[in-house]
Formats: sequence, structure tokens, C-alpha cells
Amino acid sequence: MSSLCYINGNFVPAEQASIPAMDRGFLFGDGVYEVVAVMDGLLLEFERHAARLARSLAEIGIANPLPRERLLEVCRELIRRSALREGSIYLQITRGADTKRDFAFPKGVEPTVMMFTAEKVLSVNPLADSGVRVASVPDLRWARRDIKSVSLLAQVLAKQAAQSSGAFEALMVDAQGVVTEGSSSSALLVNDADEIVVRPLSNDILPGCTRAAVLALAAERNMKVVERTFTLQECMQAREVILTSALHFVLPVIAIDDQPVAGGKPGPVCAALRTLYLRHAMATAL
Ligand code: PMP
Repeated sequence: MSSLCYINGNFVPAEQASIPAMDRGFLFGDGVYEVVAVMDGLLLEFERHAARLARSLAEIGIANPLPRERLLEVCRELIRRSALREGSIYLQITRGADTKRDFAFPKGVEPTVMMFTAEKVLSVNPLADSGVRVASVPDLRWARRDIKSVSLLAQVLAKQAAQSSGAFEALMVDAQGVVTEGSSSSALLVNDADEIVVRPLSNDILPGCTRAAVLALAAERNMKVVERTFTLQECMQAREVILTSALHFVLPVIAIDDQPVAGGKPGPVCAALRTLYLRHAMATAL
């Protein structure tokens, strides 16, 4: 089944979907987005994604056209119409299409809502067994990374640099050598004291939904979680380095910049967190 699109109230095949050229998402990257995993035709971590969407919109002053109930309704309708069993729903809301290209917010313009389904096997992921290689890159982004903005040029360049060097993901690092996050994932490490170390939430990183779920599960199991910043150097010496994201769930890192980390193989904490996360995500799926 090809991708099904929802645009401003209408369901259309992705090939026929279009947005006005004057849309501010296109002109300015003036919008926000979410990606929600679908398994067994159900939405994973829906509440966290709905809450983050509402927050991102509020932070940039767009009235939310998809409050929780409406969002759930449209997502379910997309799943039903496309018969999606496993994959994702992407959703993007921009400030809308204007007739002029004025930087300041236009008056009387309705937000553009665009969503689409994508089929993808999520339940089986060979990367969870093999582990992934990452490449460090400078974090070139703006100062409000907590907003899930569609302005993703820095992440596009980061991912491209990583993939050009044969790595799966880019690990973004600030000028002081401190890790922020992956280009499309949150980063965690496990140290020799068996602590799960994770950068605290701030404007410097996206509040990852998978990160939040994994940390809550770890705390429930009395695993020690320490929220503090950590350096690339610490990752090189860590017992485990872990990435989390909505579509890859929890993945082990086995090399950074072609240097093996964590003994060059996936570790037990990552495997345990992945299992816990999947069980929780399926049990709470809507
Ligand atoms: N950080 C960044 C920069 C991301 O783009 C993503 C994925 N959207 C994440 C972290 C992971 O967030 P989530 O677990 O909500 O997918």
C-alpha cells in the first residue's frame, strides 16, 4: 500500500498531495512535526507525542489545530484507510500559506496540517542485534532544540556526513566536546558504576519521547539514572552507548568514528531497555 496523506481535512494518496508554494513551512521552515510509530495498527507512545506536539506549537505561537482527541481520531482514520499495520505516521503543522513572504506572523491565516503514513518493519530490527556505528559531528543547530521544528538543515547535513563515512547516525557534539544528541535520536551511556547517564532536558536537546519512556522504565526497575551532560571522550570509554528514537526504539552503539566502543558489541543494559520499552510501548499502544 502506498503512503496515504491527510492535508487540511482531506485524505489523498501521497502522489496527489500538494501544498501551496507560499506555505510558510516551505518558505521559512515555520512549523513543527512529530513521528509516531505504528505496530499492530496501533499508535505507540501517543500521549507523549501529542503532548510534545502541543508544546512545540505553543512555543512558536501556532494555535493547536489537532488537540489530543482530534489528533487521535485523524491518526486512527489514516491507519484504517491505509490498512497500516506497522510503520509510522509523520505529521507536520506549519503556520500556513500567505500571499506575501513577511517574516512576522501573518494575520487570518490557518495552519497547514499535513500527515502521511509510511509502511516499515519495526518489530524486527537487525541493527538491534548488530549494533550501529556513529560518527561525531559538530552540533550546528539553533538555540531552541527543544522545539521539534521542521527546520532540519543541520540534522540533514549531520546525517549525510555520518552516512557518507559509513556510519548509521551522527552524534552531535558542542564546541566543548560535550554530546548533545543524535541527529534523529537521543543519546545515553552506561558507565562503569552501572549508571545510565543522560543529558538533562533543556533548550539544548529535543525532549525525546522514547528517552522519557526508557528513563521512566529504568527508574521503575531501580536502575540508577543520572541526569548530567557527558563528553564524547566519556562515550569512547563507556560500558555501553545507547540511542533511542520513536522508530528504532533502543539501539546499541558499537563504534564511534571507527573506534570500537563498549567492546565493539551490543551490551546487556541496552538489550534489557529495548525489551522493557517494547513491552511497555505495546501494552500502552492506542
Ligand atoms: N533528538 C532528535 C534531534 C530527534 O530528531 C529525535 C527524533 N525525532 C530524537 C531525539 C528522538 O525523539 P523520539 O524518541 O521522540 O523519536
